Order: sequence, then structure tokens, then C-alpha cells
Amino acid sequence: MNDCLFCKIIAGEIPSLKVYEDDHVFAFMDIAPLTKGHTLLIPKTHCKDLFEMPEDVARNLYAAAPKVANAIKAAFNPTGMNTINNNGAAAGQTVFHYHLHFVPRYDETDGLV
Ligand code: 5GP
Ligand code: ZN
Repeated sequence: MNDCLFCKIIAGEIPSLKVYEDDHVFAFMDIAPLTKGHTLLIPKTHCKDLFEMPEDVARNLYAAAPKVANAIKAAFNPTGMNTINNNGAAAGQTVFHYHLHFVPRYDETDGLV
């Protein structure tokens, strides 16, 4: 059995707020947002991190990235956006199904440095 949290989100076994979905990827709101609109983009194919990601999975994921960024932009009207990806516990990864963070930025008002 697959005990992966994000595989369960893709399967709908754990609820999430969907931002974008196609045949290859799923994007949903982070449960503990760093800023308003913080979103995670994940491949539907389980892979642990960037080191293990097959090229076709990477291609499909990055093909979706501008669509996710623009969906967030349309919904939240940020003035900028960070995309961040942590690989390995030493790098701060806590969920071991690859995910790309989209963190919308709002000039001085978002509290992040
Ligand atoms: P990491 O630290 O691995 O780069 O990021 C994991 C992210 O997953 C964190 O930002 C955390 O808030 C988010 N997260 C953890 N559990 C859940 C969950 O059950 N639902 C959602 N939507 N996000 C989660
Ligand atoms: Zn998974």
C-alpha cells in the first residue's frame, strides 16, 4: 500500500483545495501557507525528489508551471512569486513526494524577507 500523503491527495483520499489539474500533474493550496495563495505543484507519478525524477515527468511538470503561476496570479493578484523546491531532509524536505512551491509575494506587506 502507498503511504504517501501527496499520492493520497491526488487520489482524493485526503481533501485539498485544487488550483490546477491535468493528466500529469496536480496543484493545490498548501495547508500552512507562507503567504496568501501558497500552492504546491506535484507530479501524479510518485517520485521522491528531483534526483529521482524521470525526464518526461519533469517536462510535464514544468509545462504546467506557467499555468499554475498564472492561475494564482489571477486569483490573488500578487506583485511577484517565488518557486522553491526542497530535495532531501537536509534541504528542508518534509513530504517525500516531489513538490514545487509557488509562494506569491506582495511587496513589503507579505512579512517574508
Ligand atoms: P517541504 O517542507 O517538504 O518542502 O514542504 C511540504 C509542504 O507540504 C509544507 O509547506 C506543508 O505545509 C505542506 N503540507 C503538509 N501536509 C499537507 C497536507 O496534508 N495538505 C496540504 N495541502 N499541504 C500539506
Ligand atoms: Zn507520492
